[in-house]
Amino acid sequence: MKETILAKYGEIILKRGNRPRFEKLLADNIKYALKNITSCRVTVRQATVYVEEFDIEKIDLIVERMSLIFGLVSITKAALCEKDMPTIIKTATEYLRDDLDVNARFKVEAKRADKSFPMTSTEVAIELGGELDEAFPGLVCDVHEPEITVKCEIREVGAYIYIAEKKIPGQGGMPIGSSSKATLLLSGGIDSPVAGHMIAKRGVTIDAVNFFSFPYTSERAKEKVIELASIIARYTSKIKLYIVPFTEIQLAIREKCPEEYMTLIMRRFMMRISEKLALDHGSKALITGESVGQVASQTLAALDVTNAVVDMPILQPLIGMDKIEVIDRAVSIGTYDTSILPYEDCCTVFTPKHPKVNPKRRDVERVEAALDVEALERAALSDVELIEVYPE
Ligand code: ATP
Ligand code: MG
Repeated sequence: MKETILAKYGEIILKRGNRPRFEKLLADNIKYALKNITSCRVTVRQATVYVEEFDIEKIDLIVERMSLIFGLVSITKAALCEKDMPTIIKTATEYLRDDLDVNARFKVEAKRADKSFPMTSTEVAIELGGELDEAFPGLVCDVHEPEITVKCEIREVGAYIYIAEKKIPGQGGMPIGSSSKATLLLSGGIDSPVAGHMIAKRGVTIDAVNFFSFPYTSERAKEKVIELASIIARYTSKIKLYIVPFTEIQLAIREKCPEEYMTLIMRRFMMRISEKLALDHGSKALITGESVGQVASQTLAALDVTNAVVDMPILQPLIGMDKIEVIDRAVSIGTYDTSILPYEDCCTVFTPKHPKVNPKRRDVERVEAALDVEALERAALSDVELIEVYPE
């Protein structure tokens, strides 16, 4: 017997002719994500991912790391043994001893992927179930409402044995790299990291851009954005983070435009500059973290004014979510505690007291005409800092 790891993938199953390509991408992503932990062999057969030949000491770390990889729906440790009934029974009894030596309802589910195996799935389940029932007096067989489901999968290489309830849930989604790249406008807030995670989950590679107003926002605020990027990178591997100096633009807006338009015009600059960066670096869309009505700059009229300045698709995955739902997600992906650190974002420093809630494109364009938009953008783009952010 040896201990191994099995994982199941999700939506890839729906890809007919393309399935091998997605499976290969998923296997490559897993190998890449594990490369700092262990060398290993990753293969995919019949919608199951097998991780083998790894450093057994690291098994829990490997499972934990795999639970962050997009495309997998569950991960489990399993015993792998020879395909004969006496060995299967002995292995299940020994490998699962701690879990089965309890008072509980249980059943055995067997699956025979290797059709040359001489017994049917039902016969395997009945025989193994009977033996386990006898070996562990606390167990009561209950096929309808079991608390413990012992799985026995008979496959080409051998029999895999594990407990279904001990599977670790995966992220779901599609493997990173299966769709193109998009550029995330990453602030230090709660919303945009969640938006980035949601789009990355669909298999999209993520670049990030942050607008930074030194000295109005501190180095700590920048560290916070880098930390948020590194948390997202746990799921996506490396992220390129572009830091764009924003102070000159904000000062020009403050000097030349009515205060009530300040946020809107700032947001328009962010969108235009991000689109330019995106085009330069092969991104096909922008990602932002708005949800309708959350603040004055997120009314439909405000979104219209902001989004009007770019041509590429703008992905706003939080658009219909309540703040509380976004917070729940931020907690579950691990960004929340960093997002609520108090360091100022560039926008909080320059927030108008009474922002325009029902702006019109032509009014904003008129107000914006007081600025040399192109020169301001050119200056900002000439001074972009690139930081390559890795998972912590
Ligand atoms: P968040 O929690 O993501 O900061 P928010 O509710 O504070 O969002 P806004 O400040 O209106 O919303 O910003 C809307 C979106 O614009 C953000 O979700 C983010 O995508 C982008 N954005 C805002 N500020 C910045 C910034 N300094 N750098 C990069 N993107 C930003
Ligand atoms: Mg914000």
